Amino acid sequence: MITTNKKHDFFSVSGMQRNIDLSKYSTWRCGGTADYFFQPQNKNKLCEFIEVYGRDYSILWLGLGSNILFRDAGVDSVVVLTAGNLSSISWGQSDLLYVQCGTPCAKIAREAARRSFGELAFLAGIPGTLGGALKMNAGAIGSEIWSFVDKVETVTTNGEIRHLSASEYKPFYRGVEGPELQFLGAWLRLSEKTPHASEKIREVLVKRSESQPTGEFTCGSVFKNPVGHYAGELIEKCDLKGFRLGDVAVSEKHANFFINHGEASSREIEGLIELVKARVRSRFGVMLEEEVRILGKEKKYE
Ligand SMILES: Cc1cc2nc3c(=O)[nH]c(=O)nc-3n(C[C@H](O)[C@H](O)[C@H](O)COP(=O)(O)OP(=O)(O)OC[C@H]3O[C@@H](n4cnc5c(N)ncnc54)[C@H](O)[C@@H]3O)c2cc1C
Repeated sequence: MITTNKKHDFFSVSGMQRNIDLSKYSTWRCGGTADYFFQPQNKNKLCEFIEVYGRDYSILWLGLGSNILFRDAGVDSVVVLTAGNLSSISWGQSDLLYVQCGTPCAKIAREAARRSFGELAFLAGIPGTLGGALKMNAGAIGSEIWSFVDKVETVTTNGEIRHLSASEYKPFYRGVEGPELQFLGAWLRLSEKTPHASEKIREVLVKRSESQPTGEFTCGSVFKNPVGHYAGELIEKCDLKGFRLGDVAVSEKHANFFINHGEASSREIEGLIELVKARVRSRFGVMLEEEVRILGKEKKYE
């Protein structure tokens, strides 16, 4: 809750909105409201905002919401939306691409391919932003975003912009550790030119549509792959493909994807997550760990 004497200014910040329905900002299309939702017009406005309020308020960075389950009672933090306004992309040296945090991954893949760098084609099928990809160390088909990061642009809770070398960060499977984790952008270093880079993107997209439910309300892989296993395979072996709880179901096409058929609540999705975890644990003794980030307040039900 916002209680300090900065309250008045806070509400009048340009780009600040109240009581925003977060389901529109999550690819799972569910979740409660954000009391405070800020969409900065540009990087400077964002840094000014953080300089004034960053120490007093908890800030939740939001890209395209493709890896977040917002709980039904919403979130208390100030949600800062980067997708849309913070999405510039430009070449520095011929092999160094600067990308702002709100840039969609698909746009990054296309821009790299335009200059014949096919090595970012894996990003084409990841429906998030660069910021979300950095935080999650997003990856596919044997590549991960941090392998290409030369430097990141971050902002401290004082609103100070810092440029930090990738060597200061420790990426791991679907995450990263490092000194500053609020990303304004990054410089990606590319090295391999390929003759048919755009063709590679098309191939990536075709393969995805063959193996994953595309065009549905999902959050991608719900669970990380446990060491030595594929989460989807374990779930499938528990005969859970197509299993439905309320309006959410395990995908028939890929068991690590759960589909909201339209009206699922976050509570139902969390319920399915717990049920699947329990079945996999009892059958294989393997504890699945969520890849998706579950954020916000628990709603009290009667
Ligand atoms: C159909 C589908 C397919 C998918 N396939 C893949 C895949 O192949 N590989 C893969 O790795 N993922 C995949 N995902 C998951 C998701 O797309 C990635 O994790 C993506 O990187 C998330 O980006 P986002 O902008 O949507 O992040 P969000 O969901 O908005 O946020 C995810 C996390 O990142 C944080 N965050 C967002 N922006 C910033 C920022 N600028 N600075 C600091 N933190 C930030 C958020 O606070 C949150 O903790 C898939 C998802 C879907 C729906």
